Amino acid sequence: MKQSFLELATSGVQQLTPYIPGKPVEELERELGIAHSIKLASNENPLGPSPQALDAIKKVAASVNYYPDGGGFVLRNKLARQHQVDAANITLGNGSNDILELVTRAFLTPQLSAVFSQHSFAVYPIVVQAVGAKANVAKAFPEDHETMPLGHDPDALLAQIDDTTRIIFIANPNNPTGTWMPPDVLEELFNNISQNIIIVLDLAYTEYMDENIKPPINKWLKQFPNLLITQTFSKVYALAGLRIGYSISNVEIADVLNRVRQPFNTNMLAQSAAIASLDDVAHVTNSVAMNNTGKLFLQKEFAEMNLNYLPTMGNFISVNVKQDGLALYHKLLQLGVIVRPVANYDMPEYLRITIGTQQQNERFVEALKQSID
Ligand SMILES: *Cc1c(COP(=O)(O)O)cnc(C)c1O
Repeated sequence: MKQSFLELATSGVQQLTPYIPGKPVEELERELGIAHSIKLASNENPLGPSPQALDAIKKVAASVNYYPDGGGFVLRNKLARQHQVDAANITLGNGSNDILELVTRAFLTPQLSAVFSQHSFAVYPIVVQAVGAKANVAKAFPEDHETMPLGHDPDALLAQIDDTTRIIFIANPNNPTGTWMPPDVLEELFNNISQNIIIVLDLAYTEYMDENIKPPINKWLKQFPNLLITQTFSKVYALAGLRIGYSISNVEIADVLNRVRQPFNTNMLAQSAAIASLDDVAHVTNSVAMNNTGKLFLQKEFAEMNLNYLPTMGNFISVNVKQDGLALYHKLLQLGVIVRPVANYDMPEYLRITIGTQQQNERFVEALKQSID
């Protein structure tokens, strides 16, 4: 008799719990019979993509009968100039999630392990589990930590490394906490990690960070050959729907990733939109400025409501709502405000809110005041 297909899957896959993404607005509105809702659930840029990116998409749309440039020549060269590295240091991904998957497929086996922190990005356990490798999860700082509640604890991360470890994932700032490690702390951590372990430094939100704590990536790339930096066009560049991201690394690591990469992993529309987006510096500046204003507004409102929030350097903020976050999420939904419950991140009493436009932030605060017990 035929076995169940799940039993036929590899043991790593059998134990996987799929990632649950935020639902599209249209689907939620249909389910709840509501209209005009706002989505502050997936850390998308509320200003939308750069108009230059939209023009670029229109220009290439008629050519999609052709395969894209599998080597991403123009985009990789442009990124190389921006970061002052060689194009050979850049690997393009179908979203930076693609890079996270390439690195686990290339470097992990069921006999090996990866290290990451509690409350860190949900994709790390999935990509590690998918190849059947072991996840060694470090305890985060406690909630009453003086400066970085629920943040990554460098000593706890180091303590999880053993002889089987080949990858360590560090999100800076981290999602969903928004917490970060200052450059000097990160550098000391890297100095204590064997160069046989790939350090994946996930900088998805780096454009939103204050200048004085932004990681000095060029210096580090020279200092640490085992460093793989990932960045994305999904957040401040507002191209989440097109799926494009990249890594910067030593050419040897880039060569390894290139061996497991699908030949046409990034599409033509995404490449051209990304190229155009890099030229629209003003759009990035405006997006960051709006985010900073919105962050201060939400922090002030939370303080007035006596709610503790985590320090954040991202375009989102996690707040302790002192009750079941999932129940409150459902109440907010009824008012047409979609945020993110984070019980799956070990944070059942928190909600993560993407910082929106001023109008969206005000509407969220109104709904929160109405819904909170
Ligand atoms: C949103 C996010 C990403 C981006 O993923 P893409 O695949 O590039 O859309 C990567 N890392 C973290 C921590 C994120 O929150």
